Amino acid sequence: MTKTDFIDYICRPYCMFFKEGEKEEMACLGARVAEALVEKSCFDTLALGVYEKDAVAWLNPKHDEILFQQVCHGCEFLSEDCEYRSEGPPEDTEPCGGLILLALLMANEIIDHTVLKGAHEPD
Ligand code: SF4
Repeated sequence: MTKTDFIDYICRPYCMFFKEGEKEEMACLGARVAEALVEKSCFDTLALGVYEKDAVAWLNPKHDEILFQQVCHGCEFLSEDCEYRSEGPPEDTEPCGGLILLALLMANEIIDHTVLKGAHEPD
């Protein structure tokens, strides 16, 4: 699966930072983890794009802690570029689209923390 594919099911529907036609050098780890789960068939891909964006999913403290530890902690954007994980983020900021999709999958009990562990590492 290529980046073009995950733009369709991660960036375009979920990411507030996505700009049509803008080429990014690198994808955030949230998107790479979500893509890796798709490649490993960890959940039914029919679920992709079905879930409405809902802040309740990513603001769930238990899920947020898991997502921080298992995804954001290893993300290249964490230290400088990620507004959502910055100290004192703007009130209306959102995580990247990948993290949003992962949070929605957790909220809907499609995946749990065991699935996330090492998801972006090769088998
Ligand atoms: S929310 Fe920020 S730190 Fe976490 S995966 Fe997305 S871009 Fe990276």
